[in-house]
Amino acid sequence: MLNQLTISELSHRLAKREVSSREATQACLDHIQRIDTQLHAFLSFMAEDALAQADAADREFASAAAPRPLLGIPVAIKDVIAVRNQPLNCGSKILGNFISPYDATVIRKLKEAGAVVFGRLNMDEFAMGSSTENSAFGPTRNPWDLSRVPGGSSGGTAAAVAADECIAALGSDTGGSVRQPASFCGCVGLKPTYGRVSRFGLVAYASSLDQIGPMTKSVADSARMLHAISGWDEHDSTSVPEAVPDYNQLLEGGIKGLKLGLPKEYLVGGLDPEVSQATMAAVKQLQQLGAEIVEISLPHTDYAVATYYIIATAEASANLARFDGVRYCSRVPGADPIEMYGKTRGAGFGPEVKRRIILGTYVLSSGYYDAYYLRAQKVRTLIRQDFLQAFEKVDALITPTAPTAAFKAGEKIDDPLQMYLCDIFTLSCNLAGICGLSLPCGFTSNPKLPIGIQLLGRHFGEATLLKIAHAYEQSTPWHREKPPLATPPAAQP
Ligand code: GLN
Repeated sequence: MLNQLTISELSHRLAKREVSSREATQACLDHIQRIDTQLHAFLSFMAEDALAQADAADREFASAAAPRPLLGIPVAIKDVIAVRNQPLNCGSKILGNFISPYDATVIRKLKEAGAVVFGRLNMDEFAMGSSTENSAFGPTRNPWDLSRVPGGSSGGTAAAVAADECIAALGSDTGGSVRQPASFCGCVGLKPTYGRVSRFGLVAYASSLDQIGPMTKSVADSARMLHAISGWDEHDSTSVPEAVPDYNQLLEGGIKGLKLGLPKEYLVGGLDPEVSQATMAAVKQLQQLGAEIVEISLPHTDYAVATYYIIATAEASANLARFDGVRYCSRVPGADPIEMYGKTRGAGFGPEVKRRIILGTYVLSSGYYDAYYLRAQKVRTLIRQDFLQAFEKVDALITPTAPTAAFKAGEKIDDPLQMYLCDIFTLSCNLAGICGLSLPCGFTSNPKLPIGIQLLGRHFGEATLLKIAHAYEQSTPWHREKPPLATPPAAQP
């Protein structure tokens, strides 16, 4: 089954001309047809367009001596990243039938690398959520257990990758939205350093926290995707003109002598015992691979959730003001502009988005600005300093990605605070602007659900994270396991 391959495996077979990109793309489309009514990872896809891109890749394979790094690889995209001539809904009703007139920079780069860019992946509305239950188009399910959530907000992305509906995909991460669903579904999710990857064409949720990141079946694939999408961009003034290393070339070499910090504040109450066990087993494994483990303190960890939910909602309330029925959106008419705005936004946004706009407007309002927003910005600086101090002593940090494995659909949807606490281990990374990666580190026993481990690295320290993750992955079996849903019916016993 070609759809089950990693980028490395498929590239290899494409380059040897054993298989064609059309066959691989068709295998993904067939598999989506077979399972996605149950999974609901895709909001839409354009089969003809995908196959046309695949055919172009096949023609290039026939003529080119050295194929481009992602030539002919089917890559699916979270519905918050603009792809020219494709729908862009952000998991929301408010954009109506909007079709993007341009490519995000990451999409331009993927196309330049030769990828077959196809499909719109489900997500929490405007990336606000941790379960993909806030999608206006209905939830995505977890391919390991259809009664459970895939995590969020990139839940469609994680589910599609884990269930082999595509070879790789792009998600976005504002407070954990790439890493937490990666851990719930059992794939590799990377949140690059703020400024590593251009945000041009990523619909903004919280601009000082948002980054686009690859979601893949292996660490090597993550390195290849990151290399393709990274770099300074004249269209994003927050992208950083820092050289992009060839992450693939830096994967090998092992981790002997690297120092890994174990933050003591992350291994406390509320952590599921099986998650805690898997984390400690991973720590031991890394030690066996030659890493030195050091206990570290990140004293301001306790304030991360509150700080994040003030800053993220404040920025969201400003960013989402543009959805007003004038320039974009399906407009609901009113007697005057004010009534039209109110009706359009009232009808178009779902309850979680409204909650956050109200919260964000409140923390920015005069009289509360100093008490909430300004104070949160100060705490953000303290959280960042905690990490900078830790990275004076260690090369990377190791933590659980989430306090539990995937929870049941419906379990937390009526309790926003419980939902917000899912992000307790992932938020600080965005507040500090550093990079983070989640990869599979085991399973719960009953039911069998993936568990993820998180590595956190210095600003622009992606190469170190990928090297550690690669060494760990190569010495463990977790990434080879497939969810039951991904197994084709004929192959089932
Ligand atoms: N779950 C977090 C939130 O709801 C993070 C989402 C994200 O990273 N986009 O804001």
